[in-house]
Amino acid sequence: MKDLPKIYNPQEIEDKIYKKWEKSGYFNPDNLELPEDAKTYTIVLPPPNITDKLHLGHVSMLAIEDLLIRYHRMKGFRTLWIPGTDHAAIATQNVVEKKLLREKGLTRHDLGREKFLEEVQKFLEKTQKTILRQIKKTGASLDWSREAFTLDKQREKAVRKMFVDMYEAGIIYRGERIVNWCPRCHSTLADDEVEYKKQKAEFYTFKYSKKFPFAISTTRPETKLGDTAVAVNPKDERYKKYIGQTFGVDFCGVKLKLKIIADKNVDMDLGTGALGVTPAHSMVDWQMAEKNNLDIVKVIGEDGKIRAGFKNYSGKTAAKARGMVIKELKKRKLLEKEENMENSLSLCYRCNTPIEPLPSKQWFVSVDKKIKRLGNKSLKEKTIEVVRKKQIEFIPERFKKRYLDWMENLRDWCISRQIWFGHQIPAWHYTNKQGTVNNKQEFYVGVNPPEDKNWTQDSDTLDTWFSSGMWTFSTLGWPQNFKDNKKSGDLKKFHPTQVLETGYEILTLWVSRMVMMSLFALNEIPFEKVSLHGMVLDKHGKKMSKSKGNGIDPLDMIEKFGADSVRLAMLIGNTPGNDMKISEEKIENFRNFTNKLWNINRYIDQHYFKHAFPGKKDISRKITENTKADKWIINKFIELIKSTEKDIKEHRFSQAGERLKDFTWNDFADWYLEISKFETTANKGMFLRMILNDLMRMWHPFIPFVTESIWESRQGNKQKLLMIEKWPTINTYENIIDGKENFDLIKEIIIAIRNIRTKNKIPAGKKIKVIVQTDKEIATSIKENEILIKNLRTHVEKLEIAESGKKPKNSAHQFVAGINIYVPLTGLIDIEKEKAKNKKELENLKKYANGLERKLKNKSFLEKAPKEIVLQGKENLKKAKVKIREIEKYLESLKK
Ligand SMILES: [Zn+2]
Repeated sequence: MKDLPKIYNPQEIEDKIYKKWEKSGYFNPDNLELPEDAKTYTIVLPPPNITDKLHLGHVSMLAIEDLLIRYHRMKGFRTLWIPGTDHAAIATQNVVEKKLLREKGLTRHDLGREKFLEEVQKFLEKTQKTILRQIKKTGASLDWSREAFTLDKQREKAVRKMFVDMYEAGIIYRGERIVNWCPRCHSTLADDEVEYKKQKAEFYTFKYSKKFPFAISTTRPETKLGDTAVAVNPKDERYKKYIGQTFGVDFCGVKLKLKIIADKNVDMDLGTGALGVTPAHSMVDWQMAEKNNLDIVKVIGEDGKIRAGFKNYSGKTAAKARGMVIKELKKRKLLEKEENMENSLSLCYRCNTPIEPLPSKQWFVSVDKKIKRLGNKSLKEKTIEVVRKKQIEFIPERFKKRYLDWMENLRDWCISRQIWFGHQIPAWHYTNKQGTVNNKQEFYVGVNPPEDKNWTQDSDTLDTWFSSGMWTFSTLGWPQNFKDNKKSGDLKKFHPTQVLETGYEILTLWVSRMVMMSLFALNEIPFEKVSLHGMVLDKHGKKMSKSKGNGIDPLDMIEKFGADSVRLAMLIGNTPGNDMKISEEKIENFRNFTNKLWNINRYIDQHYFKHAFPGKKDISRKITENTKADKWIINKFIELIKSTEKDIKEHRFSQAGERLKDFTWNDFADWYLEISKFETTANKGMFLRMILNDLMRMWHPFIPFVTESIWESRQGNKQKLLMIEKWPTINTYENIIDGKENFDLIKEIIIAIRNIRTKNKIPAGKKIKVIVQTDKEIATSIKENEILIKNLRTHVEKLEIAESGKKPKNSAHQFVAGINIYVPLTGLIDIEKEKAKNKKELENLKKYANGLERKLKNKSFLEKAPKEIVLQGKENLKKAKVKIREIEKYLESLKK
């Protein structure tokens, strides 16, 4: 066996190890040697968008999921983790459009649909490759043979089939609706793609015309050109008499017909308590129009400008038209009030352009229509039911409420987008010889285009969540693997999946849709658990962004510190559902830990692995004469195996990692390994090797590279890879050790002696005498462990054990669990000098504290000084008082 290098060098090792794993084929569950009835464990990787390279949020997700996957693989599950990427329709189109404009000065319209999509294709092939390479760098054990893309051929088949099935079931329909329209992206947005920003706005109160009996209030006077009614509260005495009447008015040069309607939702205290109803440009007003059978007049077009037919307002932007209307109202002396108010502005989440609510022909998924196959329940009802009945569990649990709240208020889902990149809607309409659309002709909806060339495909594409909503089953061979309501192949083996692990910010956008789509297609849930992680923030708790320059590139970090260190930094200190802070220092810290692990192994390797690796025979041999320390470490290790399993099962990865680290560094390295240098017994080497090997198994899901590399160095390439080794069981250890042993007492004595050395500043090299006073039983136990008490960084020359007695002269003292520990100080330190020095320090400290106290009682100081200074003063006084007490105690101990 070669000697291991002194320092672990991830840069040299990681890529080689990853290749070895890939070559083994074990990422693919079909290649695992498992009993026929082995349980499956499946996760679909939330597909990263192809718009950008990997960021730290992705790495956090990959670290968590790889941990779960590697753990379950070692636990003997048929484990599958499916990789893929998302075409992210609007997001990608925006990136390519910007790039095109920057580099060539062209818009997508300059290029035309086909050429533009070629540009997108070029872009995505490049970014996709980068992302996949970066994912491999993190050590993710994904089954690459099942890699998918939300816009590849197989997924296109699935998406079309889904659309057709939903259309035939009457779930997908086409209708005019108010949609959130982004005039810049030229596309509709789902409700949850709209962002809100508080803004200062003008709130105008005016009369439509001199003839109209009362005034109304609004922040958007320009839309009033499309008013067809005025709504008032039915209880409002001021307006009761007008309800039901219709008024013809000349509003700033435009003729309107206004019906006075009653609606109990109108706020009597807001403005004048009367509301102009604009059905074409407000969701609420649209609903009032449906209820009251009102006319719908479109004022603003899809370009964000006033449409034709509105006098000189036509062709002007909404903002410009607003100014013109106000000017006209002033001229006509109709404007009564102009106030400032704060309201919330709706913005496009992609480009921050203000949203215009517009009526438009769109494709919708009905969430309220009852479906026979789902027991005459609607998608909304069924999607709520499976969560209420706990078929799907949330981690952390609080997100269940958020999910249900959102689902209960869900309206029909607008799935069409007026962009080019994405799944084009599989619906065709009939075009006549002149090439114009025949609107009266019904749509043809099908998986394949109609043969008649007079049918033209709808130019819209599907909302990106439509294809990613199918991700759990479109990646497992649906629809081919689903005939006559029966699952086959991968779909049968791996669906429903076990966990969906994703960011909480897409709980509503994605998670709920996955549940809906799976229920519709398969009549089963897509996953049993939803585990949500938070965002990765910089060390000050700020969002990372390119413009702020506070981002950390995970690939740079992997290059610098190794993937294991980055993974550990993303796992420890990360709790489900909460945001986490990260800094380069934190990652560097964990690099130190991987080095420590390497060195622990190196030490044991040099001292205890000279001979053969322990086989099963060794372990089952009856072992005698185990020491207190042996029993203690083995009991601790049994507890560790149990708690780690429990923590992983309950998704407390941070706690699992902390405990593992604490055991490895403290109990195992700092104690047991040190003990082994002084306490040589027949079994020491075997115990060290056993625990170390099992520690590698347990660390493997967290830090796969360094553990695999240690494993390999030990056993040579012929042995089994660590990634498919069995997770340790406690039986092996329980068979060795019967009963618990109280070694903690010995540890406490050793710690007490070390503390005495530090407190009394006993020079490092000087040997000391220790006197222990205790009862007989403990005395025996101490005697047994004398060699450890004398040698574990205590430098004890003589250990005296007595049942009772007086305090020895000039000695330091500590009291531990009923035991008196004394260390005579004569000859070790110059007591007189030590006393004088400390007395002087005490005097100075007292002076300082008194001065500070006086100052803090002084009224004029308290009034004038800034708050921080006063607080700092109080803090300093507190510290000084603590220090004073410490020195006084120390001097007391030196007295005798
Ligand atoms: Zn936009």
